[in-house]
Amino acid sequence: METKITRMLGIEHPIVQGGMQWVSYAELAAAVSNAGGLGIITALTQPSPKALVNEIARVRSMTDKPFGVNLTILPTLKPIPYDDYRQAIIDSGVKIVETAGSNPGGHIAKLKEAGITILHKCTTVPHALTAQELGADIISIDGFECAGHVGEEDIPNFILIPTAISRLRIPVIASGGMVDERSLVGALALGAEGINMGTRFMCTKEAPIHDRVKEAIVAQSERDTCVILRSLRNSSRVARNQVAEAVLELERKGLGIQDIGPVVSGAKGRRVYEEGDINAGIWTVGLAQALINDIPSCQALISRIVQGAEDIITKRLDAICSSSTLVESTL
Ligand code: NAD
Repeated sequence: METKITRMLGIEHPIVQGGMQWVSYAELAAAVSNAGGLGIITALTQPSPKALVNEIARVRSMTDKPFGVNLTILPTLKPIPYDDYRQAIIDSGVKIVETAGSNPGGHIAKLKEAGITILHKCTTVPHALTAQELGADIISIDGFECAGHVGEEDIPNFILIPTAISRLRIPVIASGGMVDERSLVGALALGAEGINMGTRFMCTKEAPIHDRVKEAIVAQSERDTCVILRSLRNSSRVARNQVAEAVLELERKGLGIQDIGPVVSGAKGRRVYEEGDINAGIWTVGLAQALINDIPSCQALISRIVQGAEDIITKRLDAICSSSTLVESTL
């Protein structure tokens, strides 16, 4: 399958792996890139810009295919030296960066000067238009189905993707709720140039998270997530566990980040992924978990999605079109 984004990113299949905090390490990114998609590591998962330089080198030791680095700019409990992370990305010769979280204005010009292709991930069309004007090359539009930071406007992908495509000049990747061959065909039919999957890639053999988290995703349904931090205008879709319920209760009481911060801290969420205790903290997961029933390798997953999408197009959809032609000609 060749689309604008496979050509722009130099990848074989129009499938991008989401930049997921505490999940998107070199092992996962390299496995996705080796399977013909675009693997992405997250800058802020690394404790320092220097550690990020090492992580980028680790990806390169595992793949010679294109890969990207995610730089997410959101409120954090501790200040983050974003400019130093950006410089580490540039100095390491990375060719593709995914910006996300908020206005990437402070970063895009410097990344572009270094010849980097920028994907900007956002949840509304006005934000996408701003990123386009700032110089982003591709928009990953993130529907309300997604995991993590869903934005504040709750627009699902059946509306968000075609609206974005009709208003943007640059190519769009569909993100949020993307999970299988049906998502890929649906996204392409809506006009997207490919898909971005996060939760689905958490449930692969190479994802460096505890098996109990992967098993929980397989067991959970579309009803087992909730959106927290809405009261702080930093809404985030997470697994509906004991900690998420406690956060919702604190929000109902009108408490602020001083009280909520220690409960939602990323350090606790990290323990979920590393130790497999799914109630140790907040962990992000999308509605797509409803459609995840197995834990394949990235290669098997991507091959299955691409082959399945081709089958839907050439067999099911083609048959529907041919049979309607038949009916018309019979009339
Ligand atoms: P953290 O421990 O600093 O904060 C935990 C959560 O509280 C995060 O969702 C954060 O955005 C939120 N938060 C912190 N301070 C806040 C405030 N003043 N007001 C409102 N909300 C506040 O976060 P972390 O887990 O160490 O992650 C570091 C950063 O990287 C976070 O901003 C995270 O969202 C971001 N990140 C997210 C993704 C993703 O969702 N795909 C990917 C990469 C990085």
